Amino acid sequence: KKEGRNTYRLFRAEMHRQDHGLLKMETALRNTAETGAGLGVHYQPLFDRDSGEVHGAEALLRWHHPTFGHVSPGDFIPLAERSGLILPLGERLMHLVAAQMRDWLAAGLAPPRVAVNLSARQFWQSDLVAQVRALYAAYELPPGQIGFELTESILLDKQQQAIHTLQALRELGCRIAIDDFGTGYSSLSYLQDLPVTTLKIDRSFIQQLGESRGSSAIVAAVTGLAKELGLRVVAEGVETEDQLQALSRYHVNLIQGFLTGRPADAATFAERYLIRDGA
Ligand code: C2E
Ligand code: CA
Ligand code: CA
Ligand code: CA
Repeated sequence: KKEGRNTYRLFRAEMHRQDHGLLKMETALRNTAETGAGLGVHYQPLFDRDSGEVHGAEALLRWHHPTFGHVSPGDFIPLAERSGLILPLGERLMHLVAAQMRDWLAAGLAPPRVAVNLSARQFWQSDLVAQVRALYAAYELPPGQIGFELTESILLDKQQQAIHTLQALRELGCRIAIDDFGTGYSSLSYLQDLPVTTLKIDRSFIQQLGESRGSSAIVAAVTGLAKELGLRVVAEGVETEDQLQALSRYHVNLIQGFLTGRPADAATFAERYLIRDGA
């Protein structure tokens, strides 16, 4: 009994330490949201499977903190979502990306369209469309230069309102991708009503292609459906030649993954993938 109590106390102490760590990280993230210090963006290329050309890029948030070091988005994004800090952080990210596009365009480079991830809270902001419109105007971006990725669960909630917002973004020329497709909901009928342009098949299916019959069946079903609906398909998380080969029998337009290109900082991305207009 006594031991049990000690164990409990140890457990409480550990819980407390963890809470404390999270709280510290949240405080740090709050400072970062206010100042922007330590925030950066990496860009990962999406390649057209048939032509081999760079067709787009995904913007991925990076955070470096003096004491925590590089914190993975898998750790700080959920924290940002729970605390609401995703709103100021997301806004900073959009400005960083917009400024980068403007700079590349001004330098005579031809940047591909870039997709920014939006979490639920961001998507449901009442002034999201106004923010995006203002961003395009402030940075004088061509229509559609910046698009968005959203997960299925966001789009299933309040569907009529979601359609309305997506429609408004489409009118600005934005491409809209459904991220991590296949992991969320089983009902596919909603797809035909959504004004989206792209499906991104979750990397869990890509990585099990050829190993699990279930994954192959899902990839076959999703790509077949996308073809019927006239949607672009991205295979994400492609890491090996075997996976690329296994995808060849399906209707897949774009490839994104470590095999074809890892996320890179803007300078590296430009050096590797951007060509000067007319050069
Ligand atoms: P995601 O939107 O599914 O982004 C793709 C993630 O897969 C990125 O991780 C990318 O680096 C990684 N990845 C790309 N190719 C491969 C591959 O071949 N193999 C493997 N194993 N991984 C690959 P990252 O940058 O760590 O981001 C993780 C998640 O954090 C993202 O998943 C996204 O949900 C979230 N995230 C990142 N940036 C933002 C942002 O600006 N806003 C929001 N709301 N979420 C973000
Ligand atoms: Ca994404
Ligand atoms: Ca994804
Ligand atoms: Ca994901």
